[in-house]
Amino acid sequence: MTDTSFTYSQQLMGTTVSLQLLTENLQAVAAVFNTIKALETRLTVNRDHSEVMSVNHAAGKHPVIVSDLVFDLITQAKQASLLPNSNFNFAIGPLVKLWKIGFSGHTVPAADAIAEKLSLSNPSLIELNKHDKSVYLPKAGMEIDLGAIAKGYIADIIKLVLAQYDIHQAIINCGGNVLTIGCSPFTIDKHWHIGLKKPFADASSLLGIIEVQDKSVVTSGIYERYFMQNNQLYHHIINPATGYPLDNELESITVISDNSLTGDIYSTILYGLGSQKGLEELNRRRHIGAIFVTKDKNIILKSNQHFQFTLLDNSYQVCSKN
Ligand code: ADP
Ligand code: MG
Repeated sequence: MTDTSFTYSQQLMGTTVSLQLLTENLQAVAAVFNTIKALETRLTVNRDHSEVMSVNHAAGKHPVIVSDLVFDLITQAKQASLLPNSNFNFAIGPLVKLWKIGFSGHTVPAADAIAEKLSLSNPSLIELNKHDKSVYLPKAGMEIDLGAIAKGYIADIIKLVLAQYDIHQAIINCGGNVLTIGCSPFTIDKHWHIGLKKPFADASSLLGIIEVQDKSVVTSGIYERYFMQNNQLYHHIINPATGYPLDNELESITVISDNSLTGDIYSTILYGLGSQKGLEELNRRRHIGAIFVTKDKNIILKSNQHFQFTLLDNSYQVCSKN
């Protein structure tokens, strides 16, 4: 066992990205952060220009040819959006821009504005042409938003970048998306210990420890980006059926999976399903595990043998569903 590690952090993708390595390797560190910057520049919708924005700017006008990488992610985003009962919707952009949750100027929009944007958020209308790798949004005002999955997709690519430098043990943390690579040299059982954040508490307050090996741990919560208006909390995961933030008993959902893109997609899907239907879904999807944290202070574990959990906060109760 060793106890040394080297951690490097940068502000990227609207969050703090940190990389933990076991040996110092500044070339690998530079490659990782440069890759993230380059990918963010292509995928973001929070700037006026990016590859995804070039598709959005051409909505209702013409298809836009994108790179293989962007086409690949958009293709996976469309598939996830068309799954039965999926709350994941990559065409949600018009509603995200209307609500501005997590950005300045957020407000509860007028009901007719929400209805108008809902009509522009139909993922099945988005046309993907795999022959020329073009994407077409057929109605003016439609917008692709990859905000729910870009960090996961990027984390998976960073694992490949590290492998090029022969690094097979590391953690990449993109704020809410933690990808553990290989096994941990810090613990006897070689599991990495990842903290599960306590909702609405300071950043260092943990509900418990998630123990994993070579897994992605993705958390989506209502406590990260939200605003209050008239005693009502409005958070940043929108229900594609109503146009309002998803409203259920959950404070957060954590998905444990092999790759981070899957974790990101399923954190949105399971968040929308809620714990009861979410557990049924996890019975059918044994390749992922999940942790539901409810507003009434229950932690529901469905590990599907992908993780272990140790409770640290006794004001919560753990219930294991395996
Ligand atoms: P983060 O990890 O950045 O807090 P999440 O992974 O939980 O975010 O995704 C939230 C982001 O995804 C929103 O800020 C928005 O850009 C986008 N989004 C919101 N609602 C949906 C939805 N129903 N489907 C897909 N993306 C969504
Ligand atoms: Mg996500």
